[in-house]
Amino acid sequence: MLPKVLRIVGKNYAVEKMKLADNYGLCDDQIQTIKIAEDIAHGMERDTLLHEAIHAIDYCMQLKMSERQVCGLGTAIYALFADNPELVKYIMEKPKKHVANPAKEPVTKKRPTRRSK
Ligand SMILES: [Zn+2]
Repeated sequence: MLPKVLRIVGKNYAVEKMKLADNYGLCDDQIQTIKIAEDIAHGMERDTLLHEAIHAIDYCMQLKMSERQVCGLGTAIYALFADNPELVKYIMEKPKKHVANPAKEPVTKKRPTRRSK
């Protein structure tokens, strides 16, 4: 089911399905809304949602991506997920034991602190 909200770089983007004349999707960063055409095929809908999410990421991160880059990345990420369901499960896996911040190495040595007098 199409999510009603996407959390994109700390911002909530409403996702709406509607009739769109000339586009499969639209991303409006001013009102944080992604619109998806209601009459498109299963795969195209997902590809389009990723595409519009990448537009939002591009805006939030000031990447200045071209339409061609957004298009290529959206389609490639969709294909990567569709072709590798185990990858999606792996990425979403919770850590086995509770670690406060699994991305960080445990601090074993005290860092030297610099103090101004
Ligand atoms: Zn686009």
